[in-house]
Amino acid sequence: MSEVERFTLRYCSGIVDDELPAGIEGYYEPADETIHLSNRLNDIQRECVLAHEASHAYHGDKLPSKAQEARADEEAARLLINVDRFAALERVNDNAWWLAQELGVMPWVVSAFRKYLNEVGLLHMEQDWAE
Ligand SMILES: [Zn+2]
Repeated sequence: MSEVERFTLRYCSGIVDDELPAGIEGYYEPADETIHLSNRLNDIQRECVLAHEASHAYHGDKLPSKAQEARADEEAARLLINVDRFAALERVNDNAWWLAQELGVMPWVVSAFRKYLNEVGLLHMEQDWAE
């Protein structure tokens, strides 16, 4: 069991790998507090979608609004990405696709993490510190 899975199981009653319709990667079912994941996901996709759904489970989101989706993306990114490692890699190459590959996450996770860093005023930390 992965760390993300162990973490997520504190906030839901179970994680079910399911045959979901094309385009649906996963969802949180508030009625029985379970998380359903598409069985078509690879390991990296599964981990990222699970981290996103963990946020919905934690907050008990029912029909998530746009803001709740953004919060789930951000919380997933904060769960999956270590800020020191991110800063070190960004110094090497700030291409989002490359960063995603190095960090073992989906590109949307990198975008969400950057948005978070931007909001807390930490984007391009190294550059700011160097000045
Ligand atoms: Zn969502």
